[in-house]
Amino acid sequence: MSAASSGVVLIGVPWDGSSSFLRGAARGPSAIRDALWSPSSNSWTEGGIDLAQAKSDGRFVDGGDVDVGATADESVRLIRDGVERVLAGGRHVVSLGGDHSVTYPILDAHARSGVRPAVLHIDAHADLYDVFDENRLSHACPFARVMEAGLASRLVQVGIRTLNRHQREQAERFGVEIIEMRDWSPSVVLSFEGPVYVSLDLDALDPAFAPGVSHHEPGGLSTREVIGLLHRMRGRVIGADVVELNPARDIHGVTAMVAARLVKELVGRMLTPAERVGSD
Ligand code: MN
Ligand code: MN
Repeated sequence: MSAASSGVVLIGVPWDGSSSFLRGAARGPSAIRDALWSPSSNSWTEGGIDLAQAKSDGRFVDGGDVDVGATADESVRLIRDGVERVLAGGRHVVSLGGDHSVTYPILDAHARSGVRPAVLHIDAHADLYDVFDENRLSHACPFARVMEAGLASRLVQVGIRTLNRHQREQAERFGVEIIEMRDWSPSVVLSFEGPVYVSLDLDALDPAFAPGVSHHEPGGLSTREVIGLLHRMRGRVIGADVVELNPARDIHGVTAMVAARLVKELVGRMLTPAERVGSD
């Protein structure tokens, strides 16, 4: 079975107990699901995939939410095990966060399933702290944990605009490739050998486009720039997460619709035969 045809399972990860500033992201998955199937829009991707059709064909499945626990340690284990069970069925996973701490157990599940992808991480923040507020599982730390555990073959970050000395040192230590926002151009085309996992923190977008996040960082990407990046990048996307939607901070569900659009384009790309990807 080819990677493009094995299907995609959508799962929610309603965990925000590792957030450093505001809670609320645990309600992200249900808000994104509502936006994804909202009658205010249709179910087609820009590239011509009908997700409603894919759903009725069984190529796109909503797997519900994974269990989370009362503590971060417990949730890391439950999220990892929940995702690993879905991957064992031979399908790819697109996860809806939740705060960004969920990416570490999700990538751990991929590693346990024999997949060590390159990771494209789109975010205002590098999330590379060794420890934040005395918490090594904080949503400010997941990519330090990922790199220490060797869960990614390569880490490429885009949209970053909050680096401090510690995080620059961490990036150097782990060999992270960072395209800082100040150096960004919409003409950038990323290229990956082998499987690619996309981790998309909605605060990568400028707050003008995505106000419904806990950490507003002005000077970010537009919705169109993120869609263009996802369409043009070269590589085989085998998994993704869209994290950090905080519905309590959203305005008329605008950010939930942005998240849903990005989920659509990611799923559409994963369901598109490899030879047709990256042609626009
Ligand atoms: Mn993040
Ligand atoms: Mn962020």
